[in-house]
Amino acid sequence: MIKDSLSHSTDIVIFGGGVAGLWLLDRLHQEGYRAILLESDALGSGQTIASQGIIHGGLKYALRGSLAGAANVIAAMPARWRKCLRGVNRNDNAEAAENACDPDLSDVTVLSDHYYMWSDSSIRSKLKTFLGSKSLQGRVEALAKTDYPKFFAAATVDGTLYQLPDFVVDSNSLIDALKTKQAEHIFQLSTDSVEFPRNSSGKVDALTLNLSGQPLTIETGKILFCAGEGNQQLIEQAGLNTPSSQLRPLNMVYVKQQNLPLVYVHCIGDSFSLTPQLTVTSHRDREGTDVWYLGGELAESGVGKSDEEQIAAARSLTNALFPWVDLATADWHCLRINRAEANINNSYRPDDAFLIEEDNIVVCWPTKLTLTPSLADKIVELLKSSPINTTDQEPAENLNALLKRAPIASAPWD
Ligand SMILES: Cc1cc2nc3c(=O)[nH]c(=O)nc-3n(C[C@H](O)[C@H](O)[C@H](O)COP(=O)(O)OP(=O)(O)OC[C@H]3O[C@@H](n4cnc5c(N)ncnc54)[C@H](O)[C@@H]3O)c2cc1C
Repeated sequence: MIKDSLSHSTDIVIFGGGVAGLWLLDRLHQEGYRAILLESDALGSGQTIASQGIIHGGLKYALRGSLAGAANVIAAMPARWRKCLRGVNRNDNAEAAENACDPDLSDVTVLSDHYYMWSDSSIRSKLKTFLGSKSLQGRVEALAKTDYPKFFAAATVDGTLYQLPDFVVDSNSLIDALKTKQAEHIFQLSTDSVEFPRNSSGKVDALTLNLSGQPLTIETGKILFCAGEGNQQLIEQAGLNTPSSQLRPLNMVYVKQQNLPLVYVHCIGDSFSLTPQLTVTSHRDREGTDVWYLGGELAESGVGKSDEEQIAAARSLTNALFPWVDLATADWHCLRINRAEANINNSYRPDDAFLIEEDNIVVCWPTKLTLTPSLADKIVELLKSSPINTTDQEPAENLNALLKRAPIASAPWD
């Protein structure tokens, strides 16, 4: 039997609990908004848990020759994240007050404080010219051999190692830290149960959830779609016309072996190009086995390959690049996953976080983990330009009674 509709009211409803949704939930609460987050699966279960966790300043784009308008935005991101990772005590000092709107990420595990770029000797002079260009001056430092980290100190091939301003975070601990901050505002919800009715002026100012025959209406001032690949389905469910998303498929490879040396590096170029051939990060699975996670050009060019062909390509590339490492007993796997971005210009890759609003719904794509703070800035700016009017909050007891809590996703190698 269908019971009377229950209701709840809040300023903002966020769909999707990857890095974008979780970061925004915390930022919006700090800005004084009342917000809840609805996740259809486990938190981080799309791209965030599968990401390599590199917080980068855009050099990778520059190497491809595709760093355009937003170069300064991405270049500022590593320093912005480092402040969050140091933690913010808002009563401490002026600097803390200035940063008070970014989440305190002091509980997040930093896997490597540095990210590196390795090139073989064949492109040394080409690279020197490129790195000497004005836009990159001072951002990339060639290391003396005496300063090489352990992995490259053991190299048996001639190459040059550069240290970038980038670093690597553990995605799982990032999701956990963000979830912990706002746990009471996060709920799990089956996507099929949502409807987006329009009011008399054509705006969506409420959601209807049908929870096993029990209707629940959530009145809200603004709705944010932060569902990564799931944004497209939400766009269609809500009947939006303008926004659309594009997917860029990848065939990532991960390699498990006991006692793998830790390495965090872009291996760039061959004699023709500076594109990163291989992007490596190191992790550990639940059983304590070391994992290398391999992306870059390998993952892009591997999309049309079978798993066997892709693993053969990965073996051959790692062997050519790191002949001093013995991977004889390694366990190799493929992970097919899509990057979800805004479709702004026929497959053009956006170079900053992107959002678009229609009928009170804002569809968001951070584009990169790195650019999440930029997305949060853009959302706050948008909200400040059109203040939200909602009725007083009703107690969250209806949400607590009807909705479950969302767990955290497992890493691909777990
Ligand atoms: C293999 C890979 C490696 C990457 N490496 C890096 C890197 O090193 N550095 C970097 O800066 N970026 C990297 N990226 C990009 C980065 O991971 C993404 O830009 C970022 O994680 C996107 O976050 P998101 O929150 O928008 O989406 P997602 O992380 O995809 O999260 C979306 C969430 O929404 C949920 N959801 C889906 N549909 C619905 C619905 N209808 N209702 C409610 N919830 C829903 C999903 O379950 C999921 O939890 C990488 C991406 C990939 C795929």
